[in-house]
Amino acid sequence: MEEKIKNISEEYSNKIKQAKSLKELDESFLALFGKKGEITLLPKEFSKLSKVELQRVGPLFNQIKAELEKEIGDRRYEIHEESYKNLVNENIDLTSVKLKTREGHLHPLTIFEKKIADLFGKLGFQQYDGPEIETDLNNFELLNIPPDHPSRDMWDTLYIRNKEPASPAKRGEQGTRNKLLLRTHATASQPRILKECKPPIRMMVIGRCFRYENLDPRHEHTFDQFDLIYVDRGLNMANLQFLSEYFLKAMLGEDIKVRLSPGYYPFTEPSAHIFGTCVFCKGSGCKICGETGELELAGAGMIHPKVLKNCGIDPEVYSGIAWGVGPGRMAMLKYGINDLRLFNSGDLKFLQGLKNESK
Ligand SMILES: [Zn+2]
Repeated sequence: MEEKIKNISEEYSNKIKQAKSLKELDESFLALFGKKGEITLLPKEFSKLSKVELQRVGPLFNQIKAELEKEIGDRRYEIHEESYKNLVNENIDLTSVKLKTREGHLHPLTIFEKKIADLFGKLGFQQYDGPEIETDLNNFELLNIPPDHPSRDMWDTLYIRNKEPASPAKRGEQGTRNKLLLRTHATASQPRILKECKPPIRMMVIGRCFRYENLDPRHEHTFDQFDLIYVDRGLNMANLQFLSEYFLKAMLGEDIKVRLSPGYYPFTEPSAHIFGTCVFCKGSGCKICGETGELELAGAGMIHPKVLKNCGIDPEVYSGIAWGVGPGRMAMLKYGINDLRLFNSGDLKFLQGLKNESK
């Protein structure tokens, strides 16, 4: 028995030393310690031994078993070391592996709005960043839309419930004024601008607006608006016509014809709807323009004298132009998109495609 144990030890010690790979080493390990391995099965034969023999064989077996286990462990470590050294010697450049990455970019609407801002920036207009949560005072009242005025129905407003109810003294007119809401139009920043800046004023506002809308391809509850505020001595509708043509020609092409038509906004007088040649049929009439050959593209007007007065500017000395457009709607026309909701959809295919187009 002792002979047998020594033979096993000798045979496998050599095999372990000569093993070149982890696979060869595993084979030796299984042949020794596997379910039917030589070391595993050997103790079954011990029952044939006498007590005296067993006293010699037992410790020898344990010693050889431990030695072989250690040899396998040591050799395994060596093979790891060798393969690592080989990798280093081969000079493999691990950074050469190119992982597939996707390039991020600005939202197409942001790119588009930046274009609009650049365009008016050239005329000396500066950007103003107003808050999205506004007071009823700025969003409505100073803009010549008093409480209970029927024109408030033009905006489906989302009000914010104030934590503390207004005190009895503050109820009534004062209470309404301080009521908070999500601004329904970018024009809500106009009173802030008129109060903060001294004329001449050339400002623009690009920002998020919110309305309690029924959603459809042309209406979103959250959308962007662009507003110009231009205050100086002697401004008139001719200046307004110029701004409209300057913008629409730059955006939709030199051949576009711009027409002003009377309109109504509570904060401008006179007010105008701005029409341009239909970009789809070039004026011959189609379904989209309702066979009229033109589309309403923007809204504008001379700032109402009451609004100027409300904000501390003398309407006898100064006049102002308010001019606004929906960048989302404008982008829909320019890129032929039929659903406004796609902009906020998070559809990467759509956003990526549009980004390439808006470059
Ligand atoms: Zn048309």
